[in-house]
Amino acid sequence: MPDTNNKVICPDCQTEIKSEIMLVGDILECEECGTEVEILSLNPLKYRELIEEK
Ligand SMILES: [Zn+2]
Repeated sequence: MPDTNNKVICPDCQTEIKSEIMLVGDILECEECGTEVEILSLNPLKYRELIEEK
């Protein structure tokens, strides 16, 4: 795995999702594909793709 320290990489399109402030529980949305990622932990950074059920 590459060093992705404080970067959230979209699990769908591999685009970096940038956010000025990240908190546990935050939902970030990929600008490229709209995939939503939930921040699970900051140190170390962990996140998961949110599967939205509609
Ligand atoms: Zn994406």
